[in-house]
Amino acid sequence: MTEHLSNRELEVRVKYLEEKLGYFIEENSMGSFWSMDHRFRILAEAAHEGIFILENGFCIEANHSGCEMFGYSYQEIIGKAASSVFIPEHRDIIRKKIESRDSEAYEATGLRKDGTLFSAEIRGRTFEYENRTFRVSTVVDITARKTAEQKLLESESKYRSVVENAADGILIGDARGNIVDVNGSFLKMTGYEAHDILQHHISILFDRDELKERPLRFDLLDLGESVIIEREIVNKAGEGIPIEMNSKRTSKDNYLAIIRDLRERRKAEENLRGINRELKEAKEKAEESDRLKTAFLANMSHEIRTPMNGVLGFAELLKDPDQSTDSRNTYLDIIISSGQQLLHIINDVLAISKIETGQMPVLFSRVDLMSTFEDIHRFFVPFASETRNQLSYEVEDHPACHSFECDETKVKQVLINLVSNALKFTHDGKVKFGAYPEADRMHFFVKDTGIGISAADQKRIFYRFYQVTHGGGDNPKGTGLGLSISQRLIEMMGGDIRVDSTPGEGAVFHFWLPVR
Ligand code: ADP
Repeated sequence: MTEHLSNRELEVRVKYLEEKLGYFIEENSMGSFWSMDHRFRILAEAAHEGIFILENGFCIEANHSGCEMFGYSYQEIIGKAASSVFIPEHRDIIRKKIESRDSEAYEATGLRKDGTLFSAEIRGRTFEYENRTFRVSTVVDITARKTAEQKLLESESKYRSVVENAADGILIGDARGNIVDVNGSFLKMTGYEAHDILQHHISILFDRDELKERPLRFDLLDLGESVIIEREIVNKAGEGIPIEMNSKRTSKDNYLAIIRDLRERRKAEENLRGINRELKEAKEKAEESDRLKTAFLANMSHEIRTPMNGVLGFAELLKDPDQSTDSRNTYLDIIISSGQQLLHIINDVLAISKIETGQMPVLFSRVDLMSTFEDIHRFFVPFASETRNQLSYEVEDHPACHSFECDETKVKQVLINLVSNALKFTHDGKVKFGAYPEADRMHFFVKDTGIGISAADQKRIFYRFYQVTHGGGDNPKGTGLGLSISQRLIEMMGGDIRVDSTPGEGAVFHFWLPVR
């Protein structure tokens, strides 16, 4: 440092540096300092940083990079207050740093001669020399670094907001498969806190046995493939949640897993299946009802024509004056019974259409079931003996039975339908009907020991117009409307009906009405 170079040697070195560095090192007029050593000058000129020497806050020396950085010529910068080449808001800081002799690096916004700005990182050091106080400051233009940092921050915040606002759960794993980041949706979906799972291996989210059966396919991910699978993860409460997991290796150090909660989708699928089932059932019912209606109309024309022919045919015969009194009486009996059968058919059809068009009101009154049952029994005694059946009834001697609030006409009609069927489908057997209170309901039953009803038919007999076809061709006369009417009447009174039967052994029809 103390070694002196000859002027010639210096000139050669400076020249060499000028050529090598491609700029001109100016002569400095500030003699004393300049003369210290050309070598320092060369060092300073070669530096990329701006180097300044300040005295009392004013610039007394600057290198080429420093001048260029602020856009001043050497002559212009010498004598300038150091703070003046920074934006006004930062000038106080600059002054304070100089005054306090602070040597920590700090940042400020530089103001070039042409008014443009740049980010500067400044580091100063104050020292004494020959009883004068100098400060050497280096300035680095960190605009590019700042911009890059800013861009990184922006892109990170963009990434964060995408990740945080995603409806799907997002997990990021490191190269070993440990979870290093997780978004809010995943935490919400599973009930975990971030610290429960961060730094844990992703496998903690799955059931151990399931993992054994279906291991995580890191092998495929490492080949660069995306893996999309449906499986279950276990939430914090230990419950399985159906999910769709889409994973990929995004870099050497990271895996990404996007996890979609399938619970809603599953529920919607289940609902859809339910709706489809209902639609299918409704369609089948409509088709069945349509088929039954067609069959009914064909049947009806037969059912009506037979008694009608009876009425007309035997009425015609009555016109013959030569008929004996016995024959006349027989013909009249046939005409009467045919007329009754016609009336029965017409009544049933009228009843069902009244129910279906809502024209049948429910009229409640207090009824003594004992006398109702007596009436029905009396009414059916002749039919019972005709079919060689023992007919009996049983009503519990209970206040609820003596004063039961219901629509008597409807209850009677249902019992008549059920007892009439029981007698129709039972021969040489027993038919018993009755009622007893049961909790807050009245339980009615009609029991027979007849042919019974197959399991498949037990549901269908309540469909409109449905009639079981029994082998042998001697199907009892009917419209297939009796049970359908009965069911609708019971439902109108808030009750329900059911049949139990073992084919060949008999059937029991039960119905319940609420005690009001
Ligand atoms: P229908 O007026 O033609 O008898 P229902 O609706 O009353 O019509 O009955 C429908 C079908 O249910 C009948 O055709 C019969 O096959 C069957 N059924 C009803 N009651 C009984 C019963 N007690 N035993 C056996 N079969 C019955």
